[in-house]
Amino acid sequence: MSRAVGGSTEGWPSSAGLISIDEARSRVLAEARPLPPESRPLTESLGLVVAEDVVASHDLPPFDNSAMDGFAVRSSDVADAQEGQGVLLDVTKTVSAGEGVHAVLRPGEAVKIMTGAPLPGGADAVIESERTEEAAGKVTVFEAVKPGKNVRYAGEDLRAGTRALRAGTPIGPAEIGMMAALGVPAVRVHKRPRVAIVSTGSELVELGLPLGPGQIHNSNSYALSALCRQLGIEPDALGIAVDEKMATRDLLAKGLRYDVLLTTGGVSAGAFDFVKDVQAELGVERRLWGVAMKPGKPLVFGVKGHTLVFGLPGNPASAMVSFELFVRPALLRLMGHRQTTRPLYRAVVQEDLKGSDERVHVVRVRAWRDKGLWQVSSTGDQGSGRLRSMVGANGLVFVPAGSRAVSSGEEVDLLLLREELEEP
Ligand code: AMP
Ligand code: MG
Repeated sequence: MSRAVGGSTEGWPSSAGLISIDEARSRVLAEARPLPPESRPLTESLGLVVAEDVVASHDLPPFDNSAMDGFAVRSSDVADAQEGQGVLLDVTKTVSAGEGVHAVLRPGEAVKIMTGAPLPGGADAVIESERTEEAAGKVTVFEAVKPGKNVRYAGEDLRAGTRALRAGTPIGPAEIGMMAALGVPAVRVHKRPRVAIVSTGSELVELGLPLGPGQIHNSNSYALSALCRQLGIEPDALGIAVDEKMATRDLLAKGLRYDVLLTTGGVSAGAFDFVKDVQAELGVERRLWGVAMKPGKPLVFGVKGHTLVFGLPGNPASAMVSFELFVRPALLRLMGHRQTTRPLYRAVVQEDLKGSDERVHVVRVRAWRDKGLWQVSSTGDQGSGRLRSMVGANGLVFVPAGSRAVSSGEEVDLLLLREELEEP
């Protein structure tokens, strides 16, 4: 089949037309609003974001109980107790955790009590076993206690009717524990975005098939899927579009049924770069093309209805870096997160890092801490097609535009992708 040449109808935006990373990110985030809420079982809510306040339906803890294994007493009974001068009380009962108590403590009595067991009526404190001696149905107490000692009062953690979790809270293990303690089996969360991934390029071959002349494996789709899964999103990889308008249009049209469409490749000014034109034909309203960064300059972003449409560059490192800087924040915002970017740290450069005249050079680095200060060194050749310098990189640093290089000992901004550092 013959291929129509002339894919891109536009030349590059001039370097003055390229926008900054921050500007590009804010244009993206301007289009990303949290998705509507849905109910999810608590067990499937990790990593999602609370969409509606969670209110406690009962006190936490639900009843007064003991914080210790020991003896529940009336504090007034043991006011004179001290080391070497014990007070003798009758042990009338033993209560363990899980028992409903009917016991009421009268003066001169104690109840043997376990951690988490309900406090008997009349008791106002618990003396830990270590401060007592028990024998023949009696206990000698060697310590005076203030009322409330070792007692966990009903509602002291949380009162019925008060807010346990605020809308917008990311759900981690502690939030899940809190909801479980409140007996909440399901939670209203923002939906996870549905994400489609389309790879463009006639040279691409799926895994499992042998490479013919001029062919390479489609690696972007796998790397991007993995990046999505790190956010708890299971994307649909829709396949490979060869560099023809029809094929590109077919797959992009399918992708527009999702909340987010990620394509890779075909966004430069090459003869077979159809993605921008096809986006326009499908009614995608462009919000940006061209970011003053390296790698990742050709990023194109737009919207069609509710769908966020990212045309990521084809080079593997460019695609991954663009995902980190623009797609990830958008996905987090759709999920309801308020914090969408990772914190930046100042880091000391251990070896000279090249700059890139008109664009910010985003360098893949190994980052580690030495005496509390972040140190970084390059992971190797930074070509946008290089995957090896992506492997083992646990950070990205930003060499400002216009700077010829950052020399060893100078500082740069570090975006930490993960704390761990693999051996090179
Ligand atoms: P393009 O932006 O389409 O010109 O692609 C730029 C470079 O990235 C070319 O060398 C492509 O072969 C390569 N490339 C594009 N898509 C992929 C992909 N899905 N996996 C691996 N490499 C790709
Ligand atoms: Mg291509």
